[in-house]
Amino acid sequence: MEYNVLENREVVDLSPLLVPGKEKRRLTIRPFIAELDKTIMHDVDMMSHLGSHVEAPSHFKPNLPDITALDIRKFYGEAVCIDLRYKKAREAILVEDLERHVKEGDIVLLHSGIMGEEAPYISKEAAEWLSYRIKMLGIDNTINLEESYELMASHKYFLEKNIPIIEMLSNLDKVAGKRFIYIGLPLKIYGLDSSPVRAIAIL
Ligand SMILES: [Zn+2]
Repeated sequence: MEYNVLENREVVDLSPLLVPGKEKRRLTIRPFIAELDKTIMHDVDMMSHLGSHVEAPSHFKPNLPDITALDIRKFYGEAVCIDLRYKKAREAILVEDLERHVKEGDIVLLHSGIMGEEAPYISKEAAEWLSYRIKMLGIDNTINLEESYELMASHKYFLEKNIPIIEMLSNLDKVAGKRFIYIGLPLKIYGLDSSPVRAIAIL
């Protein structure tokens, strides 16, 4: 008898639906007919940072590794989504908010529930602390990656250490406070600083 280890697991889709022409960032698709067999294909024109996407070190500095240069095993594995819904608007996320939840080598996702500008931000100290422990960081639009874009502490601490950053995840409210397997693989396009991913949580 065959045994399928994934069969009875709950899966949460962590990627938002993208609708060409309806997004704030550039996304257009144009259908055409393939000459050879008359099937339908599309040209796609989009920004590398659109919808759920994973950023490589070359997003921060051009001489650092691109998205194809990182080990594929960085992009999936044991994950925790830390529930920060008790934080207030524009409050700093501190080491003490994170330390009891994080295991060495985790993929760490953060969720606060406060959208946009008012979202809590990752303090410089918390970014540095995470950068010694985790293999990837993921956020949705309820977390500000940086306290300030002059400081760029998170970009520096994560991307300079080859720790990819996943942005614009969705449905994190459904996995907040839980441990699961995260999978979100980038496209293998040489030179890309970031790639869209279809991200899932397998509970
Ligand atoms: Zn981005």
